[in-house]
Amino acid sequence: MTVILPIYMDHLATTPVASEVFEAMRPYFCELFGNPASRSHSFGWVAEEAVEQARAQVAHLLGCKPAEIVWTSGATEANNLAIKGVAAAYQEKGRHIVTSGIEHHAVLDTCRRLEREGYQVTYLPVDNSGRVDPADVERAIRRDTILISIMAANNEIGTLQPIAEIGRIAKRHGVLFHTDAAQFVGKLPFSVDDWQVDLLSASAHKCYGPKGAGALYVRMTKPRVRLIPQMDGGGHEKGRRSGTLNVPGCVGFGAACALAERELQTQPVRLRALRERLRSELWSGLDYLRLNGHPTERLPGNLNIAFEFVEGESLLMALKGIAVSSGSACTSATVEPSYVLLAIGLNAELAHASIRFGLGRSNTEEEVDYVAARVIENVNRLRALSPLYEMARDGIDVKDTQWSLRTC
Ligand SMILES: *Cc1c(COP(=O)(O)O)cnc(C)c1O
Repeated sequence: MTVILPIYMDHLATTPVASEVFEAMRPYFCELFGNPASRSHSFGWVAEEAVEQARAQVAHLLGCKPAEIVWTSGATEANNLAIKGVAAAYQEKGRHIVTSGIEHHAVLDTCRRLEREGYQVTYLPVDNSGRVDPADVERAIRRDTILISIMAANNEIGTLQPIAEIGRIAKRHGVLFHTDAAQFVGKLPFSVDDWQVDLLSASAHKCYGPKGAGALYVRMTKPRVRLIPQMDGGGHEKGRRSGTLNVPGCVGFGAACALAERELQTQPVRLRALRERLRSELWSGLDYLRLNGHPTERLPGNLNIAFEFVEGESLLMALKGIAVSSGSACTSATVEPSYVLLAIGLNAELAHASIRFGLGRSNTEEEVDYVAARVIENVNRLRALSPLYEMARDGIDVKDTQWSLRTC
């Protein structure tokens, strides 16, 4: 097998900048360095033209008008601007927001802050595949509900939400609908009108663009969404987000969207095939595996598996030369199980035993075969040390045992 180590299989955390994206950005650092807000000379005009072309490229991928795109520093800022901006603009109408319990921290922590400021937030549960029930969304809507925010695809388990159905419900009730689509944009086809979303967050570095660049889509007609800016200053972006634009970042995001659009039919098919190859190799080599997330309604490149009787961190450690993520989040003091995995019904033990594989453009069949072989080998080795695994194989119900071998 010809693979070069280390193998990057963590494309849901970030992606490399594609070489054609980098080439599109290159002139805008040293040569074409103008400030797009400079109206009095060609340096400014050239930069503005580049930013506007990029805006059109992003808008084309989302199926909206270029004027509906607000540049941001990424999806974190886009989520903050969408949720806080709408909350502030519509507080006379109401102070209630509906979201889910498995949103990205950029949504959850923004909602938490608003709660401290007197807003009320309903955090909807998800089923054991990670899906929000649209009927729950409808039941949660009140007279004072001003915003629904549900992510398009989950960053850990890859589950896709029924966004178009939720969009229809939001429209029927006249409630604004925001989706964090950082994981969806560039990976699968959609349009803001198919989905009937009013606001949408996107991030360049999740789809082969640069870090520190992103966008918020803000619907301009039917309805015209009002936003209170969260960044004050020179009134850039029609007053919606002040600050000199990151010109190479905008150009890179535009180029990444154009690249994604060219590959939007082929890349999902290729990644799904690689994902299924990895899945079938692991399932034929190992027992006691659980798929986390939805079996079919998931991101093409995402595979998230709980390896029972194995400690995820030990497995990660053993998989030297392979970049994947675990179902644990390390804070400075402790290792916490993922709240997303707990929300879909895993216990802390299984959450800690989970690994996320994020397949992307660079991955090959050879890499998948290599990764599967290393995972099988190491899971078997770690399980050989586990009396619980022996007992389970001997048909003893391990849940009845009162003790555990886990060390953290
Ligand atoms: C990565 C990610 C974000 C944050 O995006 P940044 O551009 O890194 O700020 C938000 N939401 C989801 C679902 C993500 O995957």
